[in-house]
Amino acid sequence: MNKLFFLILSCLFVFPNLAVAKLHVVTTLTDLAAITKEVAGDEATVESIAKGTQDPHYIEAKPSFMLKVNHADLLISIGLELEVGWLPSLVRGGRNPKIKQGELGFLEVGPLVNPLEVPTGSISRAEGDVHPDGNPHVTLDPIRAGEIAGIIADRLSALDASHEALFHGNAKKFQDRMKQKIVVWKERIAKSGVKKAISYHKTLTYFFDRFGIKNSAILEPKPGIPPTSAHVMDVIALMKQEKISLIMVENMFDPTVTNKIINDIPAARAVTVPVAVGGEEKIHSMDDLYESLVKAVEGK
Ligand SMILES: [Zn+2]
Repeated sequence: MNKLFFLILSCLFVFPNLAVAKLHVVTTLTDLAAITKEVAGDEATVESIAKGTQDPHYIEAKPSFMLKVNHADLLISIGLELEVGWLPSLVRGGRNPKIKQGELGFLEVGPLVNPLEVPTGSISRAEGDVHPDGNPHVTLDPIRAGEIAGIIADRLSALDASHEALFHGNAKKFQDRMKQKIVVWKERIAKSGVKKAISYHKTLTYFFDRFGIKNSAILEPKPGIPPTSAHVMDVIALMKQEKISLIMVENMFDPTVTNKIINDIPAARAVTVPVAVGGEEKIHSMDDLYESLVKAVEGK
């Protein structure tokens, strides 16, 4: 009896996939991994390619990432060209037919959650715009994050029907929790009196939009183009004119660009903020991320 028990136990170690055929999900970003973990619970293994401290537009396509993609049952990305500079080569190098575009194992969530700033005219990369299909930083809105949870639940269910009720139940729990927390976050932001803010890149667009803060200017002259001193002077003039006193710099960018602004407008406040799960060590969940952004607005 004991021998049989040990035989089974060692098989579990050697062939874990035989014992539990869990889905393996790879996401491009940590936020997508966090949302997927909310939905999948213990019924999938989930890992992100990018770290929460990295600029998601520019990730180095390392061979170790190709290995990750090679083992995936499902690859979840934002799309909207956010990962266009690095994901296609990983998918090619990963040689995994399951996660090719058009397959069940390929999911882009950005286009499905009503993206903002979708250009209406023709746009050219010569303008330096890294958001040609609209703003891809959709996960910074708790409501859209909830919608993404629902979309992921649908896809996980298509791949593993035996846990459909669990996936949809977990997505609903996450959505309900976000809706409840938003009420309090909105109250706190209203109480802070902050109605306008500057950011470095258009990363916080969805957060600002959800919480009624106008993103009056960005420090980049255009998304993806580093700040120039002429543009920073324009921002300073605008801040004085519109009495804007908050600058939120996403922590993957150089915060020293705000030194000149603070010298000119001593009453202004520049804060460096994490903008993804894992963006700081203490940010383990979407809840933590939104909470830390609300605190930054409050000045806490
Ligand atoms: Zn961007």
